[in-house]
Amino acid sequence: MEYKLALGLEVHLHLKTAKKMFCGCDADIYGKEPNTHVCPTCLGLPGALPVPNFDAVKMTQLLGLGLNCTLNNNSHFDRKHYFYPDLPKGYQISQYKQPLCENGFLILDSGEKIEIERVHLEEDTAKSFHEGGKTLIDFNKSGMPLVEIVTRPVFKTVVDAVAFSKKIQDIVRVLKVSDADMEKGQMRLEANISLRTSEMESKKILPDYKVEIKNINSFRFMEKAVESEIKRQSEVLASGKKIKQENRGFDEKSGKTLSQRDKEEAHDYRYFPDPDIPPMEFDQTYLLGINTSLPQLPYQLKETLKTTYKLSEKNSISLTNGLGLLCVNLFMRVVESGGDSERTANLLLNRPETRDLTTEQIIKLLTGVSNKIKDTELEIITNEVIAKNDDAVKEFKTGKMGSLEFLIGQVMKNAKGKADPVIVRKMLTDILSK
Ligand SMILES: [Zn+2]
Repeated sequence: MEYKLALGLEVHLHLKTAKKMFCGCDADIYGKEPNTHVCPTCLGLPGALPVPNFDAVKMTQLLGLGLNCTLNNNSHFDRKHYFYPDLPKGYQISQYKQPLCENGFLILDSGEKIEIERVHLEEDTAKSFHEGGKTLIDFNKSGMPLVEIVTRPVFKTVVDAVAFSKKIQDIVRVLKVSDADMEKGQMRLEANISLRTSEMESKKILPDYKVEIKNINSFRFMEKAVESEIKRQSEVLASGKKIKQENRGFDEKSGKTLSQRDKEEAHDYRYFPDPDIPPMEFDQTYLLGINTSLPQLPYQLKETLKTTYKLSEKNSISLTNGLGLLCVNLFMRVVESGGDSERTANLLLNRPETRDLTTEQIIKLLTGVSNKIKDTELEIITNEVIAKNDDAVKEFKTGKMGSLEFLIGQVMKNAKGKADPVIVRKMLTDILSK
């Protein structure tokens, strides 16, 4: 029997604020000496009181709008209780009943609509290290502003889950609310995975369990973890057994997920409103102000490229995802200055070195291409120049970059100005480093 995947994602992101979430500690904690960015509040010492960071609240609302959510007029912070060494207060300040943002969605390039249940704000925990039978704790991360995006269990493939996560990464970067560097722990993923029959899928019935895989810190990791979990759960179901609701971790060495602990239900956390933090109330003028500060987002930009710039679907997608976003503004300037949109996009996407050129230089490249000499001809000229300039070649090989400029000049001269200096530079470096 073939089972269908039902996957929900939780995306955690460190917000790019100057200070931590509930105290005045510097939030630039990356690569810093352990336990140097701490105070009584983020150490969870008795009597210390939290003061919410308004910048973090605004950033969360901006992100919520970017993800097509409704911003709640009333919101508050709750205490989520659990016991763990990296959480000395015995509770995490989070949001449960009235998150800042709810009911959003994001449409993937595949056309699939991903429903977002909520976007809420909370504090991060400290970090534990297990070394030589001891556990060490670094509190720098404790109290970092953490936004959590929760989707409904709508993903049918891990490919879509990865595509969604990449889109989130692009959006938070465009909004400048997070750097979302996964290697620094600024973006972490959790996947809730369950399997169901085709019949359940068509009737939109969810399984009565979910297995949560926490702390996924790369897209590749997510693919492998989810695939291995699908295999494991299929086998359990095929043998007629029930799947236990639990948290599992992915072990890269064995390529399998391992049981970590039984998963809590919401009522186990004993949520209640944090009595130290007054509830938040936002008026319409304030919320509209956030709306007007929203820049054009990648998915809106994609439509603009297709309609206003008459660019193909394929190139519109490429220019509004990941690295493409770095040159989309340049693309628009070049086209506005008369460059052909498809050729400009191809040039910028296929030759990264052209992204540092000015609009004029790119137009020149685009219009000049037709009367340029062929690459094979250029290679002959380049090899001749190399053969005739032994000294410059030797100097280049000892690291003198000035001699490369000299060689480029010689090739340009011999090609009678019909060569593209960017190509000449690449050709020379390629040949000389062989
Ligand atoms: Zn602090």
